[in-house]
Amino acid sequence: MVINLSEKNSLVNTWISEIRDISVQQDRMRFRRNLERIGEIAAYEISKTLPFTEKEIQTPLGTSVCKVFQEQPVLGTILRAGMPLHQGMLNYFDKADNAFISAYRKHHRDGSFEISLEYVSCPDLTDRILILCDPMLATGSSLVKTIQYLKDEGMPKAIHVVCAIACTVGIEYVRREQPQVTIWCGDIDEELTAKGYIVPGLGDAGDLAFGTKQQQ
Ligand code: URA
Repeated sequence: MVINLSEKNSLVNTWISEIRDISVQQDRMRFRRNLERIGEIAAYEISKTLPFTEKEIQTPLGTSVCKVFQEQPVLGTILRAGMPLHQGMLNYFDKADNAFISAYRKHHRDGSFEISLEYVSCPDLTDRILILCDPMLATGSSLVKTIQYLKDEGMPKAIHVVCAIACTVGIEYVRREQPQVTIWCGDIDEELTAKGYIVPGLGDAGDLAFGTKQQQ
């Protein structure tokens, strides 16, 4: 399933327009904060699909039966670009467990690249609800490789992916390789360059959030 959070008019449209806007992107703090806000909205929307249970809560004047989460999800992020989205999710799922994965594109001389997965830190994911943050769903290859790796470590009962911009090619690839995944995205673009950049997209999300890096 794919949910485009900007299909209906909302604040998400404003923040998506700002993270795409070359003149606003110069403000690195605003770029990160907008990704964080998209993560917050995604957390709110995903929360509507999670299991709740009733709990008797003592107030100063009596008791109230309230709905509370049946369980806490695991928030996973693909370093480094996923960090602001992850922070947004964590602002709302404030008792969640967390997972961190370093997956990066190892570029070859001919312009092709492979996904290298190195550092992984995560709790046992067996029967957990996993929510993975990756701001740009481009080819989908890092996401698919990460999901496969995490599933081998312990099979989650549900997997959600949150991204700011998703590309149709990447969405189709993830749906083909990991059909159980629900994708929540801030917007969907059609085009992908040969180098794996989304068009019109927004550029390199990691560089815009944290600055350029020496390594390719
Ligand atoms: N990663 C990015 O940061 N931007 C893209 O367009 C694709 C992948």
